[in-house]
Amino acid sequence: MVKIEMSDTEVKKRRSNFALLNRTVIKPGYCTSCGGCEAVCPVYVISIEQLVPKLKGGCISCGACVDVCLRYKQRVEQPAIEEESLGTIIELYRGKSKLADVKENSQNGGIVTTLLLTAMKKQKIDGALVTSHVTDLLGPTPMLALNELDIRKASRSKYTLNPVLTKLTSIKLSLKEKVACVGLPCHTETLSNAIEMKNLGADFRVKYKIGLFCMSSYNPSAFRSIITQNLGLSAESLNKTDCARGKFFFVGPDGTTDIKIKECAEAKAEGCKYCSDFSAEFADIAVGNIGVADDSNIILIRTEAGKELFDFALNENVLDVEKVPKEKWEEALAAAKKLSTTKKKHVKPLPPIES
Ligand SMILES: Cc1cc2nc3c(=O)[nH]c(=O)nc-3n(C[C@H](O)[C@H](O)[C@H](O)COP(=O)(O)OP(=O)(O)OC[C@H]3O[C@@H](n4cnc5c(N)ncnc54)[C@H](O)[C@@H]3O)c2cc1C
Ligand code: SF4
Ligand code: SF4
Ligand code: SF4
Repeated sequence: MVKIEMSDTEVKKRRSNFALLNRTVIKPGYCTSCGGCEAVCPVYVISIEQLVPKLKGGCISCGACVDVCLRYKQRVEQPAIEEESLGTIIELYRGKSKLADVKENSQNGGIVTTLLLTAMKKQKIDGALVTSHVTDLLGPTPMLALNELDIRKASRSKYTLNPVLTKLTSIKLSLKEKVACVGLPCHTETLSNAIEMKNLGADFRVKYKIGLFCMSSYNPSAFRSIITQNLGLSAESLNKTDCARGKFFFVGPDGTTDIKIKECAEAKAEGCKYCSDFSAEFADIAVGNIGVADDSNIILIRTEAGKELFDFALNENVLDVEKVPKEKWEEALAAAKKLSTTKKKHVKPLPPIES
């Protein structure tokens, strides 16, 4: 065996640490506030404050936060962006939940909530990483749901930045062994990195990754100001927010108000400008609404794990869905492909890291 001698300075230089993450991802504005770095730190010295990861103690230069970060990996690997691709798909469905209360209270067809509820009820999962809200729908609150009530409360989309992966720590510290995680494309990509790392407590017993389609996300305080100043609405009064056909819709006690997405451009999160994934390509199951009725979902099964979870719900007879035959995929996915391609075409490139 050849032994390579290195001086202390060389060893230090080669180790990655929070300073590297800060210099290459956080400071230049590439961070998506996904929360993964906070969760994998073995000495718990990273804290996401005001959506920005901060160092709060002594970094031991283990490199976990750097390895897990999707943006760091993308800067290093410079993956090719395939403009026409929606990622791997093994089966395609469209439809909605059969559960009346879920359909009433969910974002679209309630497929995500139904998959989680059914799996929890039949002990296929013992926890679900979801995004609830405490004050209003523009202030997402990640949580590890341990019962059906918490899963139901997390229904509906929150269109603002969300460090959902910080709650991987709750999975790490709990006795839960079969967890499903729901997240946006950036969340599912960092989560995949965390699962792959399999060290430093990062093998999180995550059985299923459910991804949501995402065009972009918004800065909560800037978004709240826009709806207050431009529409005279208070975020606390909103029962539902939606995004479709170039507009945001806000449903409150006095009906529905809308605003063009273009008019919200200044509230768009900086880190989203570098994002090329629309359809949650790293998920086991990806769910969206584009190309189907407002009260329905389009569902992309990407992996065997995703198929297992979806087939389980099918067998429990809680889904009102049709399987799209392969020859009809192109037509069924045309609208999703159009949005995805637009996103990939307009993405700001992430520069390679200079040594
Ligand atoms: C920021 C954002 C942008 C989106 N953009 C598009 C789009 O452009 N086109 C499209 O077709 N679909 C988009 N979606 C997905 C769509 O809004 C629905 O989430 C999806 O169709 C699933 O509907 P459902 O009825 O099954 O959801 P539900 O059954 O209501 O479940 C929603 C689930 O989403 C999770 N969730 C809510 N907000 C967040 C968040 N901010 N981060 C992580 N998880 C969250 C909750 O934990 C909950 O489990 C977007 C969603 C979000 C959050
Ligand atoms: S993108 Fe995620 S993992 Fe990377 S620095 Fe930001 S919060 Fe941390
Ligand atoms: S994960 Fe490792 S490198 Fe990152 S801050 Fe924590 S101790 Fe430092
Ligand atoms: S646009 Fe990309 S980075 Fe922004 S929230 Fe959506 S998935 Fe995450």
